[in-house]
Amino acid sequence: MDILHTQLANVQKHLAFVQTDEIDWKFFVQACSWTVTLFESYLLLRQYPLYSKTAPPPALKDSFEPGQFEKSQAYGKDKAKFALFSGLYKQLVDSLLLQFGFYAWAWRISGVLLSAVGKEGYQILQSIVFVFTLYFLSTLPTLPLSAYSTFVLEEKHGFNKTTPSLFVTDLFKSYAIAVVLGAPFLAIFLKIFEWAGDRFVPWLMAFMITFQLSMVILYPTVIQPLFNKLSPLSNADLKARIENLASKLDFPLTHLYEIDGSKRSSHSNAYFFGLPWSKHIVIFDTLIAQSPPSEVEAVLAHELGHWYFMHPTKMLFISQFHIFTILALFPAFLHAPPLLTAFDFPKSVAFAKPGPPTIVAFLLFQMILTPIEAVVSIAMNAVSRRFEYEADRFAVELEDRVRQRLLAKEGADKEKVEKEVSEMSDMGPRLGRALVSLHVKNLSTVWVDWMYSAYHHSHPTLTERLKGLELYEAAKSKKAN
Ligand SMILES: [Zn+2]
Repeated sequence: MDILHTQLANVQKHLAFVQTDEIDWKFFVQACSWTVTLFESYLLLRQYPLYSKTAPPPALKDSFEPGQFEKSQAYGKDKAKFALFSGLYKQLVDSLLLQFGFYAWAWRISGVLLSAVGKEGYQILQSIVFVFTLYFLSTLPTLPLSAYSTFVLEEKHGFNKTTPSLFVTDLFKSYAIAVVLGAPFLAIFLKIFEWAGDRFVPWLMAFMITFQLSMVILYPTVIQPLFNKLSPLSNADLKARIENLASKLDFPLTHLYEIDGSKRSSHSNAYFFGLPWSKHIVIFDTLIAQSPPSEVEAVLAHELGHWYFMHPTKMLFISQFHIFTILALFPAFLHAPPLLTAFDFPKSVAFAKPGPPTIVAFLLFQMILTPIEAVVSIAMNAVSRRFEYEADRFAVELEDRVRQRLLAKEGADKEKVEKEVSEMSDMGPRLGRALVSLHVKNLSTVWVDWMYSAYHHSHPTLTERLKGLELYEAAKSKKAN
């Protein structure tokens, strides 16, 4: 532990200028966030002309019913226009709020609110009021955007199933969850700073991991049911197929659900969650309605690939490393009055004893990280795309893997094993068909600019994935011969 703290102290020495130098941080944040937004707009402008293409890529030309490709192009075009507008609009609002000292104002107002109820001087309490004031006020300007997206854009292209009353109740439920979970989280988060002083890094890491792991249990059991209904999977054929798949791979399947995704939208999906020894699979009712059981099974084979290669765990480790780096840099910004004055906080707050409010310093620090975070998100997407290819490959090679497993068992009957795995020999083509029909029915974009994709996409494009599937298939038959 002492080595860790010596190293962390070294980092702080290099960043010591933050505590003394008058740096125009506000200008820095404005410049960085506008650069990111303008770059994202540029990407949209690169992507936009592709929506005017009149024919799908050659590999997909037989996958579209008449009129379907035109529909997907029109949907893509509308979404791109909306993304361009909302990106610039959000940036403009944020930029104005920042320029005119919104954060300093919110801190003052939360102090006023607390003194009105006779609770002034409690920093953690004021921090919580401050964060929620910011949260509620900053979501207001984007509400019209999300209403437009749901009731105009998605509606126009036939995806919206959300009613206005569902939209409003969803909104209030999200606010309520933010308060119920966020307030205690923040209180403990800030208490750790108070208690551990500058040696907060390992303690905070431990707390964050505990919180993330408890969310793994809480989200599906407590939060998700507030929005959706999960019921046991009713399609008997599909159920048998998935249970068979799970048992052959020793996937610890405890529950198999279908979820009423169709309540809000007709977009479709499937996923799994849970602790290492007890997993739950959830399939959207829309997916079950769109694809035959044999293809949904292939989608699940891909999902089990994520489990087999421990992709969620790897992602968790990467994100822990990311959090660690951020926390390691933070102490330099924690006791830095010039940081607060740069964002219009009065001297009484910036030079407060024993230090400026932790939450304010943390929030401003987060804004300064904007350019680094943009790069991190590109890297994370690249990792995620790699995982998608691995999971696709897993589905193709499922037959071989299961054969090996079954033959390794004691008293395995070779003929029986061959019969069992032969059902899985076409998993790759089935996955390919499922992906195509998911794309076509969701009207997903099929022509994608490489730079746009590299920046935004956590999944390879459909043509890339089909090409990948072909390669794996070829490698597999080469091995068999
Ligand atoms: Zn995947």
